[in-house]
Amino acid sequence: MPLKFILKSAVLACFVLLSPTLKAQDYQKLHQNAILVDTHNDVLIATMQGLDIATDLTGKTHSDLARFKKGGVDAQIFSVWCDETYGPGKAYNYANTEIDSLYAIIARNPSKITLTRTPAELEQAVKQKKLAALIGVEGGHMIEDNLTNLENLYNRGARYLTLTWNNSTSWATSAKDETEGNLPESKKGLTDFGKQVVRRMNQLGMLVDVSHTGEKTFWDVINTTSKPILVSHSCVYNITPQFRNLKDDQIKAVAKNDGVIHLNFYSGFLDKDFLEREKQFFTRHKTEIDSLKNLKWPLFDMQSFLVKKYGSEVQGLRPPLSALLDHLDYIVKLVGVDYVGLGSDFDGITSAPQQLDDVTSFPLITKELLARGYSKKDVDKILGGNFIRVFRANAG
Ligand SMILES: [Zn+2]
Repeated sequence: MPLKFILKSAVLACFVLLSPTLKAQDYQKLHQNAILVDTHNDVLIATMQGLDIATDLTGKTHSDLARFKKGGVDAQIFSVWCDETYGPGKAYNYANTEIDSLYAIIARNPSKITLTRTPAELEQAVKQKKLAALIGVEGGHMIEDNLTNLENLYNRGARYLTLTWNNSTSWATSAKDETEGNLPESKKGLTDFGKQVVRRMNQLGMLVDVSHTGEKTFWDVINTTSKPILVSHSCVYNITPQFRNLKDDQIKAVAKNDGVIHLNFYSGFLDKDFLEREKQFFTRHKTEIDSLKNLKWPLFDMQSFLVKKYGSEVQGLRPPLSALLDHLDYIVKLVGVDYVGLGSDFDGITSAPQQLDDVTSFPLITKELLARGYSKKDVDKILGGNFIRVFRANAG
């Protein structure tokens, strides 16, 4: 979710050398031929603020329709999100308004993007060379403790629900609250109603997403679900001990459940030293940043200004692209290649590794996968095959 800051500005990629058998253009071809499913993108937040992703939003967002195409993105799960300040009476309505905004984009651009509710529709969209638009609702508070609301969201196309965002619900505790709050053990995890939510989702064919949920909630889900689960945008705790990254036993449990973990591109989840570097940057430029804040500069303008002024310094804050691949390798070594994918969190994050400037950067990941010795079959699984397997298992 939004942390907006530092990113953008094209960096010339220092290309990693491919193995001699792979020509430079091969990765592009392989990438374009594979089905790429990104399980988390927050550009609907920008849409709700009036930006139109049918126009060129380069320099303003990470994503727009033309850039999805350029990046070889075949299916995008658009996150429907609001924070806890949208309480009862507001959150569910807001979720619907955000879904309306996606419907409006689709209605205005029928030759480019299509609502996708089933694995068959996803396949059809790929054939028609349209962006398959899926909906993921991020934050269980948006169902407002009501199973009918859950069903209505499903009926409008939502194919996953992230049980919590950073805020807990009355029925599931979040990673943030479980790690930072003073919750007694007895208050952690899923309540009976929470288990009902999971079971109802299983019946509907809606993926249970445990990104953002606390460990206790995670284990309660594992013990309740009858279908493979999704981790739509999280990373590896053993590399970056961050409150909502996954520990090894959780990664193993997802594999045993035949679910899938899609990796978040946020620098702070990928590189354990990133937040410290960022903090030092803010300290170094505190007076200037405070003065911009006092002038009430819009966040985006402030970011652009700082990136322009401190280009190389800002670039230096970002981890290398290899950081993302290191998390991916870790999961593959621990449980195999069938349980990992990409959930960028583009347009919800303030910094991504170098070279991952926006949604056009996805081919560079394929290039790096090949350089690391992954086969074409492996790449197909990582880019989208693993998600499609889980999607089918839930829908069927
Ligand atoms: Zn999130």
